[in-house]
Amino acid sequence: MRIDLHTHSTASDGTDTPAELVRKAAAAGLDAVALTDHDTTRGHAEALSALPAGLTLVTGAELSCRLDGISMHMLAYLFDPAEPAFLAERELVRDDRVPRAQGMIARLNELGVPITWEQVARIAGDGSVGRPHIASALVELGVVPTVNDAFTPQWLADGGRAHMPKHETDPFEALRLVRNAGGVAVFAHPAASKRGRTVPESAIAELAVAGLDGIEVDHMDHDPDTRARLRGLAKELGLLTTGSSDYHGSRKTCVLGEFLTDPEVYGEITRRATGAFPVPGAGGA
Ligand code: AMP
Ligand code: ZN
Ligand code: FE
Ligand code: FE
Repeated sequence: MRIDLHTHSTASDGTDTPAELVRKAAAAGLDAVALTDHDTTRGHAEALSALPAGLTLVTGAELSCRLDGISMHMLAYLFDPAEPAFLAERELVRDDRVPRAQGMIARLNELGVPITWEQVARIAGDGSVGRPHIASALVELGVVPTVNDAFTPQWLADGGRAHMPKHETDPFEALRLVRNAGGVAVFAHPAASKRGRTVPESAIAELAVAGLDGIEVDHMDHDPDTRARLRGLAKELGLLTTGSSDYHGSRKTCVLGEFLTDPEVYGEITRRATGAFPVPGAGGA
């Protein structure tokens, strides 16, 4: 079985609509794919309605968190999307992205870049607006050659000239919210150091005690040594290990299924979850 547990659609900062994403996932030979847009489940309905036969959808989200000033991402799977407390927190984090993006645009204007909210809003559509959308606008304006080139101290990297923080959830609170909604929590790309500071192993140990289910190990932002270290840590702490593409369509270079999750780990995630079931495609639209 080929299982990819971390992808983004136009419901956040991916470039494929949820329907396109599930079609491409099936075409890529995946058996199961998780749709994990930043701070929202809004892409799920469309993905479900377009789900091809032979592909199973794992509903999820990637929640923006912050621990001791360090941004980190928590993948949540198979939670009840209507559970009020977690729903309210996702809405809070998602909605705060708008004034924050407007603040970053104002900073860019001060730096002489003629970027506008209208341009960024057009690129983001109805997706959770984020730095990758602003980065795409900077590419359109010819300020940087690629989206990745916008993630530098000069522009949008953490602490960069035009960077502004957004509301991010305390990860211990996130664990309570996810588990209370029947979901399973996996710390996304915990050692992706090129994105900024990462949390220490001691914090991962504390999160494990607080109910974290697993860590994402096989990810494009982890080199082989890092993966080996994380696998050892997971074993020590009794955590599951996952793998994924963190696919963002054409906004990133990774391809669907680039990294995969072990079927046994996937089975364990589905057994632990009580908020939702994976949905096998019946071959609709
Ligand atoms: P935001 O949630 O608006 O702060 O944007 C974070 C997103 O930007 C992440 O989910 C990544 O998709 C992307 N990102 C963060 N750091 C980098 C980087 N160094 N290079 C490329 N993309 C990045
Ligand atoms: Zn993203
Ligand atoms: Fe992430
Ligand atoms: Fe992601």
